[in-house]
Amino acid sequence: MLLQLLVALTFAAYVKNETVNSSYLGELVPLFDINVVQHVTHNPETLEELFSDDVAVVEGDMLVSKNRNAVGKSWPTTDLPYDIRPDINDKKEDIMAAMAMVSEHTCITFHRRNSTELDYVLFRPGKGCASNVGFFGGRQFVYVAPSCSVGNIAHEILHTLGFEHEHTRLDRDGFIEIIKSNIIKGMEENFKKLAGKTFDIPYDYSSILHYGRTFFSSNGKPTIIPKKDIKDMGQRSRLTETDRKKITLLYNCGTYRCGPA
Ligand SMILES: [Zn+2]
Repeated sequence: MLLQLLVALTFAAYVKNETVNSSYLGELVPLFDINVVQHVTHNPETLEELFSDDVAVVEGDMLVSKNRNAVGKSWPTTDLPYDIRPDINDKKEDIMAAMAMVSEHTCITFHRRNSTELDYVLFRPGKGCASNVGFFGGRQFVYVAPSCSVGNIAHEILHTLGFEHEHTRLDRDGFIEIIKSNIIKGMEENFKKLAGKTFDIPYDYSSILHYGRTFFSSNGKPTIIPKKDIKDMGQRSRLTETDRKKITLLYNCGTYRCGPA
């Protein structure tokens, strides 16, 4: 009897906790099966597309420009101006830590934008974590939801710098299997191959730009299965050597410091 009561109380606490954590999704829950909601709340990079009012401009966490040719364009500088909207100050520490994670061992630096700088990154609140891919000019956004971790934000900054997802590489079929039947209906676009630059660098399962096994899963089962025994696919705790190398090559600058172009 006591055991039953304990189980019931634990379950009630779990449900309550889920509800609190996902409170901002509340009004949107009827759009999706409850199982889907439970799975996607663990992958904040998938939330912007699933819950944005304007899904036409989002693919996963990548804001899609009408000008597709601009995708992947690098910034004309390695010292990116940024600003943080005051209504997201509670995420400021995480945003600063994410910028530090990107700057560490790469030539990319960030500075607070001054009013004369027209091209800059603005961190602003969002329903998920999302960013444009590459430089567009003018003010461009990185969306940061309360659930975005430091690693999630660093992942978005790499999109801002011009990088697409590792699992969308043209050669990915030699390394991973996409399980279409487990993908949320309508979200298959996030697994389409893209002809982005790879710099002839080997496929990196552990890249901070690689999706985890259950991203956009409708049922908790894998949407991506690696063809090797990989433990940290989808990790968001560090940039790998490959991630850093790609930055070095796209921005034509030294690994540990900015060199002359
Ligand atoms: Zn992404």
